[in-house]
Parts: sequence; structure tokens; C-alpha cells
Amino acid sequence: MSVETQTSNRPTGTAPAAEPLVRLEQVTKRFGEHTVLDRLDFAVEAGRHVTLIGPSGSGKTTILRMLMTLTRPDEGTITVAGQRLFPAPEKQVREARKNIGMVFQQFNLFPNMTVLRNLTEAPVTVLGLSRDEAEERARELLELVGLSDKCDVRPPRLSGGQQQRVAIARALAMRPKVLLLDEVTSALDPELVAGVLDLLRDIARSTDITMLCVTHEMNFARDISDQVLMFDAGRIVEAGPPEQIFGDPEQARTREFLSAVR
Ligand code: ADP
Repeated sequence: MSVETQTSNRPTGTAPAAEPLVRLEQVTKRFGEHTVLDRLDFAVEAGRHVTLIGPSGSGKTTILRMLMTLTRPDEGTITVAGQRLFPAPEKQVREARKNIGMVFQQFNLFPNMTVLRNLTEAPVTVLGLSRDEAEERARELLELVGLSDKCDVRPPRLSGGQQQRVAIARALAMRPKVLLLDEVTSALDPELVAGVLDLLRDIARSTDITMLCVTHEMNFARDISDQVLMFDAGRIVEAGPPEQIFGDPEQARTREFLSAVR
């Protein structure tokens, strides 16, 4: 099944639709005998917020991990911002990867570095920013996520919600075109979830960043998404705007999944 995020109602005869920012074509991923993704096609236009929902084990995280080049497909092609991510030579992969940032369930911060250093390390070493430039950017981002006063603290001293805010700021410090969010509230205490989701809603509203989110937070998915992809067993069973998927799903599998999680 081929899925494109919806384009605006562009009059015919005007400029053609831009090349999608992210495109997966015929992507297959196996772990041993198990085919986790089977000839998957989908594309995401720049600036869209796309949410991947579906039962555990349906392949959602594997898609984000392939985009982050943490795991490789067995077949197919992946293109990001016009650059081939797979298959591609290592040097090109490193360039294409600069377009992508990821926030993980478990934060994955560097525990021995201060918060500020967590945000400046990759911009200095990977992007070649000066330390002053990187620090200026880091301080702006820490203000955005409400942690200006934590620059000199090491992550283990922070709450889970604060650590996740730092992880979001760290991903944004690389100025990625695409932000991947993998169940970013799953490891948080319930009272910390809303604050992190509010922050992500603000970022979605106030920036032009493209987002791909895997989430079990259906209200968040409904609020933030332009498009929702419902996965089951490595395939997209239904795709549409949140009003359709949550309000009037066409597929029995989607209805069944939503009634189980709500
Ligand atoms: P979801 O994010 O939808 O819960 P995942 O993408 O995490 O699904 O996993 C899809 C399937 O791939 C699951 O059956 C999982 O057990 C399997 N899988 C994921 N990563 C690995 C791995 N490194 N080795 C073996 N199997 C894996």
C-alpha cells in the first residue's frame, strides 16, 4: 500500500508537488526468519506531523531506527531531503543523517556531561560549530524547554521529565529537518507526561520541523498529527487525517486497536 501525506488543494496547472522530505520505497526488514516490514512504501512531505500507531511489535520503532540508521533495511530504498540514506555509501549516509534527529524512550543522554555539554557536543564535533555558537544555540533551546537554570547540572540529577526535555533540546540543537519521536513519554511517571507532550505540541506549532512520532498517547496523536498511519504486522492498514482514524476509522483492525487502547 502506497501512502502519501495529503497535499494542499493546489490548483491544477501550478507548480508540481515538491519531492517528499522522507520517502521509503519497497522497504523490507527481517530479523532472522521474521519479516518485520514487508515492502513498505510511504512518504512524508516537509513540515508534516505524522504519527505511527498500532499494536506492539508491528514495526513502528524499526521504521524510526532505520531512518536514524541504527538498523538497516534488507531491501528497498530510503531517501531523506533528496539524499539517499539506503542504500548509500557511508560518507553519504553521514551527510544524509544530519537531516534527522531522534528522541528515545529512555532519553539516552550522556550522564557524565553537563546539560549544556550534552547540547553542544554534536553541534561542535559533527556540524563544526564554534563552542560559542553552539552554547548560544544550546541556551536558547534550554529556554525553549524551560530548563535555563539547569545548564551545569548532570542528567542523573534531573527528573525523567526534565531529562526528556533536555533530550528534545539536544535533538533540536542539530537543526534537523526531521524529528523522530519514539514513545518519548513511555518511561515517564504519569504526572510528568503532560508537560513533555505540551512542549512537543508547542514545537510542532511554532516550528516548521517535520515530525514522525510513534506514540501510545492517542489524544496527543489526535492533536499533533496531520496524518496518522495505523500499522499491523509490518503493514499500513489504514492512513488518514486524525479525524478519520480516531473519529470514523474504515478498517475493523483500526477500530479494534483503538477500542483496546482507549
Ligand atoms: P513496535 O515499535 O511496533 O512495537 P518494533 O519495530 O519494535 O515494533 O518491532 C517489530 C518486530 O521486530 C518485533 O517482533 C520485535 O520483536 C522485532 N525486533 C525488533 N528489533 C529486533 C532485533 N534487534 N532483533 C530481533 N528482533 C527484533
